[in-house]
Amino acid sequence: MKYKGADHLQDLQYFGEYGGVNPSISDSSTYTFLSAKTMFDTFEGNTEGCYLYSRHSSPSNLYLGEALAALEGTETANVTGSGMGAITSVILQLCDAGDHIVSSRTIYGGTYAFMKNFLKKFDIRISFVDTTNIESVTEAITSKTKLIYCESVSNPLLEITDIAQMSNIAKRNGIPLVVDNTFSPLSISPAKLGADIVIHSLTKFINGTSDCVAGAICGTKEFCLSLKDVNSGAGMLLGSTLDSLRASSILKNMRTLHIRMQKHSENALFLAQKFDKDGLKVVYPGLSSHKDHRVMTQQFNPEYGYGGLLTIDVGSLDKANALMELMQEKNLGYLAVSLGFYKTLFSAPGSSTSSEIPMEEQLEMGLSNGLIRFSIGLDSNIERTYNTMKSCLQELNII
Ligand SMILES: *Cc1c(COP(=O)(O)O)cnc(C)c1O
Repeated sequence: MKYKGADHLQDLQYFGEYGGVNPSISDSSTYTFLSAKTMFDTFEGNTEGCYLYSRHSSPSNLYLGEALAALEGTETANVTGSGMGAITSVILQLCDAGDHIVSSRTIYGGTYAFMKNFLKKFDIRISFVDTTNIESVTEAITSKTKLIYCESVSNPLLEITDIAQMSNIAKRNGIPLVVDNTFSPLSISPAKLGADIVIHSLTKFINGTSDCVAGAICGTKEFCLSLKDVNSGAGMLLGSTLDSLRASSILKNMRTLHIRMQKHSENALFLAQKFDKDGLKVVYPGLSSHKDHRVMTQQFNPEYGYGGLLTIDVGSLDKANALMELMQEKNLGYLAVSLGFYKTLFSAPGSSTSSEIPMEEQLEMGLSNGLIRFSIGLDSNIERTYNTMKSCLQELNII
């Protein structure tokens, strides 16, 4: 049976201090102690349920963390001020100077830049490999490797890593598998497939209203507590804290995630099938022509569909730019980075979100400069959207 994260979310109950149906927002950076001894113990990490200082933890952030743990089926979760805040603290917590990471080569541009450029400061080496090819992962592992890193649905090529298989390799080598599940909340449950740590940029689908930046780390109690350690925790010491007010607004938005994911997927599948018939070069995990369609179908939770992202390749950057400008003019969506909004968002990843990746490597991995990434919106009449999109494609002689 597939993991039912949405049911666990539905079953969570929190009340405000006056019986409100939403938990009260913790509006304090610091907390009083009745005894000095308890304050000391809290610093030592020995008193559960006591709050010390809001960079360490706060009631609102704990509520959101609990909901994310229920979503992913992990013991617990920490929330952070951004997706990058989650990614950087997990990696720096797991690696010492001189260590090594095996990572998927198709990952979010910021993650790629952090690994490739920033981690040099610590002499941490990265092998970027094709994680849909098991041998290349196995071969890259050395005695210094501290983690395997991938995205469940990769950005922007929408490649699907077989998480169970990747988890077997990680377990055999006694190292954690870290999966960024930003593109596929609910539709893929990495922890249930064997991932040890699941990361999210809450900025995208989970919050879903493009009004804030936030992140999450879902994992064991032991790991999440280690991140909060006042002496050695990367979460605590790097300081990527989420504000309580924002944590409470994200928690409220999360309650409609299952309905939104279904609609994003339904609309994206509809458009992908139509574009495919029109002879466009379309990539969508729900199409049988997608190279990882079989893996996706094996590991996804079918009621949430194949996700809200698709790409088309229109041949050149000039054409891509002209099409995006025309679609924005026709109010089909916005020429903007990010994803998971009610409106369709589109961008050309080669010159935006993946521009950190050198052109040579982009071409090698199949990231051509005519590629447009779409995060399909919640349009109530997707047929109308399709007809308008088709007229844009025809006007520019793309189909
Ligand atoms: C946006 C994104 C991130 C970074 O998240 P922020 O909240 O912008 O810091 C990481 N991974 C993926 C897959 C993303 O799409």
